[in-house]
Amino acid sequence: MNQKTKVYFTKDITKAADLFDAAEIGKIISPNDSVALKIHFGEPGNTAYIKPDKVKNIYNKVLELGGKPFFTDCNTLYQGPRNNTKEHLGVAKDHGYSDVIIPEEDDSVSVNVNLKHFKDVYLGGVVPRADVLIALTHFKGHELTGFGGALKNLGMGLGNRKGKLEMHSDCDNCKAREGCKKKEKLASCWVGSSKLVQEKIVEYAFSGIKSKANKVAYINFITDVSPNCDCYDHNDEPIVPDIGILASFDPVAIDQACVDLVNQTEGRIKSRNKFRALWPNTDWSIQLRYAEEIGLGSRKYELTPT
Ligand code: SF4
Repeated sequence: MNQKTKVYFTKDITKAADLFDAAEIGKIISPNDSVALKIHFGEPGNTAYIKPDKVKNIYNKVLELGGKPFFTDCNTLYQGPRNNTKEHLGVAKDHGYSDVIIPEEDDSVSVNVNLKHFKDVYLGGVVPRADVLIALTHFKGHELTGFGGALKNLGMGLGNRKGKLEMHSDCDNCKAREGCKKKEKLASCWVGSSKLVQEKIVEYAFSGIKSKANKVAYINFITDVSPNCDCYDHNDEPIVPDIGILASFDPVAIDQACVDLVNQTEGRIKSRNKFRALWPNTDWSIQLRYAEEIGLGSRKYELTPT
């Protein structure tokens, strides 16, 4: 796919419901559809994650359409309160979220993708069972991928812990491979290069999107654009002021549009390539190029203000 796709944009961060209507996201929701709202609930101590009052109106929109919405995420690979379902639910509740479903590790679905890095991927079982998927993404920096957008929210975010380990590790090139028991024990591993991790994330996003037969929409919040992801128990000063909310049916176009808007906005980092300035060793464009290559969307977009 290499055509311009539409990305809708509002500067008013309280108007997610109006943006939902402008982008016609309702057309993918039928009465009684279960609608997974994939979000990152934020690590305890982090304050940059999307707050529930910003997305409650999207939840209500789905209800009005006769859908059955719920918020969801999968458990983390690293040690912490979000690496098991019971405590993860507690974090979501502490951060103001209700109606949350988080799969246990044994609730897993294997999806055949036959791509460059993976033949099969391992997702938490909740999203594959839903009828519709809406990615609610906090757009921010990330030390491993340059930025974290919709592709990362669905790629790393939909993988179960086994899947996350496979995305983060590079066993073929690892010097510690002999006798390594990490895979069997679901231990953490961050051996892979940024290029490899980005491409693997995109393959996981591909599986989640294809499992929904394209009943998938994306809403990105360019708010509290922290240098690092929401998995940290703190967040540094935003690199730009809040910019707004974007909506699209194309995960590549929406992430590209977010990067461009951040780069065009004056902030504390004086660069036209702010994520590269933040993370000089990380080429964030790899994820967009690879996603476009495997048919997830287009880097060419038409920004439509609402
Ligand atoms: S340390 Fe990580 S990358 Fe190396 S073999 Fe073990 S799991 Fe694979």
